[in-house]
Amino acid sequence: HGVLLSEVRRPRGMMVLVNPQSGQGQAMALYNRHIQRMLTEADIPHTLFITERQNHARDLVRSADLTEWDALVVLSGDGLLFEVVNGLMDRPDWEKAIQTPLGILPGGSGNALAASVHHYTRASPVWGEDLLTSCGFLLCKGLVSKLDLVSIRLASGARLFSFLSLAWGFVADVDIESERFRPIGALRFLLSTLLSLASLRVYQGKLAFLPAESERESSSAGLCGADSRLPDRLLVPLEQPVPQDWTQVEEQEFVLVLAMFQAHLDEDLRAAPDARVDDGLIHLFYVTGGVSRLMMLRLFRAMQSGKHLDLGCAHLVYRRARALRLEPLSTAGVMTVDGERVEYGPLQAQVHRGAARLISA
Ligand code: ADP
Ligand code: MG
Repeated sequence: HGVLLSEVRRPRGMMVLVNPQSGQGQAMALYNRHIQRMLTEADIPHTLFITERQNHARDLVRSADLTEWDALVVLSGDGLLFEVVNGLMDRPDWEKAIQTPLGILPGGSGNALAASVHHYTRASPVWGEDLLTSCGFLLCKGLVSKLDLVSIRLASGARLFSFLSLAWGFVADVDIESERFRPIGALRFLLSTLLSLASLRVYQGKLAFLPAESERESSSAGLCGADSRLPDRLLVPLEQPVPQDWTQVEEQEFVLVLAMFQAHLDEDLRAAPDARVDDGLIHLFYVTGGVSRLMMLRLFRAMQSGKHLDLGCAHLVYRRARALRLEPLSTAGVMTVDGERVEYGPLQAQVHRGAARLISA
């Protein structure tokens, strides 16, 4: 159902954004070793932009003349693409800008979208530089799909656009904890997982969601306000109770809450194996308090092949949703969106099916 980039393409070329600090600092070497040759052989003109600081990519994309580029490609982890997506949404012409095809080349230590895109080809899993060349090949092929975006509203009123994941509790702690192990690369997630298991915590909070089966297109109130970008018609203000057809989760003790918008949580963890690039779904997982450390270990081991739901763990729940509300009651904690830390507090989210475009399988 995709279209070929060459069909929509004015032959202009790709903007390739490289974060030289991503992963173990090898993104430039990866470009020189693999990507330059692949793009040249495929006859795809491109220009490198090397980011110098956090938010550099966001600023570049916010002010770029998008008529000059066929696609915006990121050679980094998921964090840099998060900046690109939000930079596009910052623009006054966001509606057109967000239609610019995006591309992902794994050069970071958190390469979940790249692993998801490879998974959608149905090829057997690959890692590291093999994943890079697989994604490089898909980029050269240039098949453009729609990509879901999830609008996330924080208590401060800030709004984020996410393509990958929202995490609270165990997974978010691991993600942030792992920053200090950056020198060991992708293994940093495994190491942090083991450490976080040793000090397994339970978080208090309230979780509610709109099940995917719901026919509803909008709530009576809706949440639009002054911000006209992708109106969240399924949400009502945080001060109001969730609408009647939402499911309020009974439990209020969570080890983790994880909302997935693509298949992979990182290169090694296939958290939502059935997810597709534009399925319009929030794949919502939560683990309730009382789960044993051994079971958590088994769940994360099984997740490496996407088999965690087969373990029949009574503490693990999986639901498909279109919107959710999460209200932490524990005062301190970590929340991440696409692996990046965001302000801690109540939030709401709604999926916008196919709101962006991605060069994919
Ligand atoms: P990784 O998967 O290794 O974490 P990311 O692409 O997620 O790689 O990048 C991590 C963070 O680095 C992002 O928050 C991004 O804003 C930031 N960043 C981008 N360029 C630079 C730079 N030149 N120096 C330091 N940080 C940068
Ligand atoms: Mg990252």
